[in-house]
Amino acid sequence: MLSEVDFSKRLKKLPPYLFVEIDKKKKAAIKKGVDIISLGVGDPDLPTPKHIVDAMKSAVEKPKNHQYPFGAGIMEFRTAVSNWYKQRFDVDLNPQDEIHSLIGSKEGIGHIHLAFVNPGDVVLIPEPGYPVYNCGTIFSEGSSYFLPLIEKNDFLPSLEKIPEKVARKSKILFINYPNNPTSATATPEFYERVVAFAKKYNIIVCADTAYSEIYFDNKKPPSFLETKGAKDVGIEFHSVSKTYNMTGWRLGWACGNPKILSGLAKVKDNYDSGVFNAVQEAGIAALESSQSCVSEMRRIYQERRDVFVSRLNSLGWVVKKPSATFYIWAKVPGGYTSAETVEKLLDKAGIVSTPGNGMGPSGEGYVRFALTVPVPRLKQAIERISKIKW
Ligand SMILES: *Cc1c(COP(=O)(O)O)cnc(C)c1O
Repeated sequence: MLSEVDFSKRLKKLPPYLFVEIDKKKKAAIKKGVDIISLGVGDPDLPTPKHIVDAMKSAVEKPKNHQYPFGAGIMEFRTAVSNWYKQRFDVDLNPQDEIHSLIGSKEGIGHIHLAFVNPGDVVLIPEPGYPVYNCGTIFSEGSSYFLPLIEKNDFLPSLEKIPEKVARKSKILFINYPNNPTSATATPEFYERVVAFAKKYNIIVCADTAYSEIYFDNKKPPSFLETKGAKDVGIEFHSVSKTYNMTGWRLGWACGNPKILSGLAKVKDNYDSGVFNAVQEAGIAALESSQSCVSEMRRIYQERRDVFVSRLNSLGWVVKKPSATFYIWAKVPGGYTSAETVEKLLDKAGIVSTPGNGMGPSGEGYVRFALTVPVPRLKQAIERISKIKW
């Protein structure tokens, strides 16, 4: 036995991973026999479309897929990504060196820092935001500078408010639109400002576009890479997780600037051996088949959004209908904190939600609901909320 197991300073610096904590609370309530309505973690409830599952079944039978995948990913997968980008965003990506497969985009988002951040370098991170941007900074001993996302600025960071000294020390800027958790979308003008800022201070832009296909009312969100000059300064992280209900499969990619990708590739070559080839083949089926399954998924989320938002508003909450993502970013009612509201929702209504401030201090006063349960369940949630005495 070791007399003492002492975790590294790095590990001790990590905040508790929010969604693991929420999951613990949820499981404890279920154990007590509570009928939980889970609107906490953003994990789609809908199944992966059948044609993708079928492609996986035949891919898994092929012995050539049983060996180490290694490297950027099979060429057919990268070509499928390239074609999809061209069709969806009119962006040209060379499958040779402008696309790199990932074991889910979280993996790449968490590892990119190791390629570029030296101890003390600054990483610019939106808050509230996806926790991984900051975790990667801690692991690389960088220093996070948080950019508040507030309603007054349409949940876009104010780049001009970043002090000159901080900007000069910054290595990476993360942006994430459509945004988790605020569900805001970015404008082409904002992306132009990002390119200009990145060029001025020599900062690598990492755009997390995991929700680009979860949009409503036919308002297609742009890709950062559509912006003139974007490929000079950045890469985009993408994933099949949300688009095809494939969170468990672990398949994503990074694309854009080849030099930046080569840094990420070097980290990955030394850490992992790539994405299971059969999963990449399933990814090809997802990207190359008819996209009607994606339209159908949007229709389902849109219906859920409409039901949930209109009913929540009729209870006196003040909530806007988001034009993308499956999140509702709701201001909490009358003077409560995020934590108090989340606790009330769980204790009095059996509803799991995410406290806005858990994803960054500017999220205080909000809760995030994920629309990952069917409409009847959402109606039941509203019914239960209506009975809470605030
Ligand atoms: C879900 C999500 C991702 C995607 O994660 P995967 O690892 O690809 O499953 C990336 N960024 C954000 C903000 C997300 O919410």
